[in-house]
Amino acid sequence: MSETIQDNVVVALAYTLKLENGEIVDQADAEEPLEYLHGASNIIPGLERALTGMRVGETKQIAVEPAEGYGDYDPEDIEVVPRNQFPNDVPLAVGMAVTLADDLDNYIEATISALDAETVTLDYNHPLAGKRLFFDVEVLGIRPATQEEIEHGHVHQSFADYDDEFDDEFDDEDFDDFDDEDFDDEEEDFGALRKN
Ligand code: ZN
Repeated sequence: MSETIQDNVVVALAYTLKLENGEIVDQADAEEPLEYLHGASNIIPGLERALTGMRVGETKQIAVEPAEGYGDYDPEDIEVVPRNQFPNDVPLAVGMAVTLADDLDNYIEATISALDAETVTLDYNHPLAGKRLFFDVEVLGIRPATQEEIEHGHVHQSFADYDDEFDDEFDDEDFDDFDDEDFDDEEEDFGALRKN
């Protein structure tokens, strides 16, 4: 049993993430906790550091500055594109998150920051860039990571599966096709805890 949060353990976490104005922008509860591999940069650095050493059942309030979170806001990191680059039948709105694919099928997340009849302004900053983040966390579980999880740098088995006695029969390799970096990027969306 791993008693405290340290590198190469999998952590199950309940949390609420608020901004300075009290707005809740993300949360996970005991029903569907965040499960991540500690020490593998699965989560933002300021949060990962503050969680180190915590025990199951412990709670904590953690404030994270932008430099330890999603970085500073870069006002240059926007682009104005013709509206006709978007399909006609997709209603666009300011504040909407869009996923764009480039010629190489890399996916890029952006937020529509302005809109008129002719143009769409895309903001490529992470929606939480430049924000101070306030987490309320509760550690729900800690377990050692498997060798494969350590090699891949992310969690494979949820705590529920890990505790399952039939776990050894579970063929993790079946999922390898969905496990490459491209998919990770695509899946990344705007989940507030994930790192860029
Ligand atoms: Zn993997």
